[in-house]
Amino acid sequence: MTNEELKQFKASISITAVAQSLGVDVVRGKCRCFFPQRHSHGDRTPSVSVSEERGTFRCWVCDDVRGDVISLVQLIKDCSFTEALDWLMEQYPFLVPNGAKRPAAQNFSTGAASKAGAPKVVNSRPAPVLQEMPPVEEKKELISEDERKRVILSFLKHLSPVDNTPAAAWLARRRIYKPVWDKMLLRTITDYGELNRKLREEFGEEVLKYVGLYNDKGNLRYYKYPLIFPYLDAQRRAWYFQARAIESGIVPKEMLLRGTVPYPYNVAALDGTPGWVYLCEGCIDTLTFIGQKINAVGIPGVRSFKVEWLPLFKNKNVVLCLDHDEAGRSGMEYIGGLFNQAGIRNVVLGEGLESLPTAMKEGEDINDWFGGKK
Ligand SMILES: [Zn+2]
Repeated sequence: MTNEELKQFKASISITAVAQSLGVDVVRGKCRCFFPQRHSHGDRTPSVSVSEERGTFRCWVCDDVRGDVISLVQLIKDCSFTEALDWLMEQYPFLVPNGAKRPAAQNFSTGAASKAGAPKVVNSRPAPVLQEMPPVEEKKELISEDERKRVILSFLKHLSPVDNTPAAAWLARRRIYKPVWDKMLLRTITDYGELNRKLREEFGEEVLKYVGLYNDKGNLRYYKYPLIFPYLDAQRRAWYFQARAIESGIVPKEMLLRGTVPYPYNVAALDGTPGWVYLCEGCIDTLTFIGQKINAVGIPGVRSFKVEWLPLFKNKNVVLCLDHDEAGRSGMEYIGGLFNQAGIRNVVLGEGLESLPTAMKEGEDINDWFGGKK
């Protein structure tokens, strides 16, 4: 597809209909954020605006939740640009400009979208101009996957241990101490300007933007997110990380590296030997358990658990301990169902013990429960 054809294809698709078909409830141009855990009350009042007219969406809280219909599919299905485009072409073959069929944009303006009260604007769009089928261009990757990993690794190597930095004080307030910092190789950015310069010199802006370390303005993304949690594998290497703000009032509090989360945080705990493992939300809760010498893994958010990860949990019994809020509960129900289907025994932390004085309270997470201070 040429750029022009891609533009046409996107313009002829209803972004609302696509969201609806992927199970997202869009009502009057609004839906709940795909990262409810970054919002207070799990984003009960929807923060994402969906513009039929422009074919775009945007969360008013999360800086990285915005884009066009392709980014929407990428976010919801957690897949690459190419995969998202392929999926859309499969869903709407009649809109692919190939001259094979008449466009049938009317077909999906009468579906769930209009029932939910979304404006019917699909019909007012110009029908795509049909052309001879052009050769489909392979989407060019700027650098190979191995090179991408090398850039991430190099970024992580430039960072400092957290000792004697504001990040250390922040962690200590949450009762996460040096043995855990060292075990999990927690890192921090101490001199943002210098790091920004060094990386640009080493890799160039284009590569850094492609990898997702640099923003559109050409700067390292983590100005306000100096605490870095590398996702170590069993060999203690990392190609993935999560960044955390340590000043209050910054939303979202966490930033994920672009692309697919390769495995849960602290995947080394899933070593195939029989035993229990605690599955929690976010790095802080995982680190809290590790500090208590409890076997734990973390997922960045309720929606980020992947079916492909189920085999990693072989021989384990799982205690689900996502946050004690609406999003956490529905997440535990969903993930518990996946474990059940895979024959993996699982229980919800504290279930049946809600009346005990030590039970987790509404809105609490694991770190709160263990006495961490926000
Ligand atoms: Zn959001």
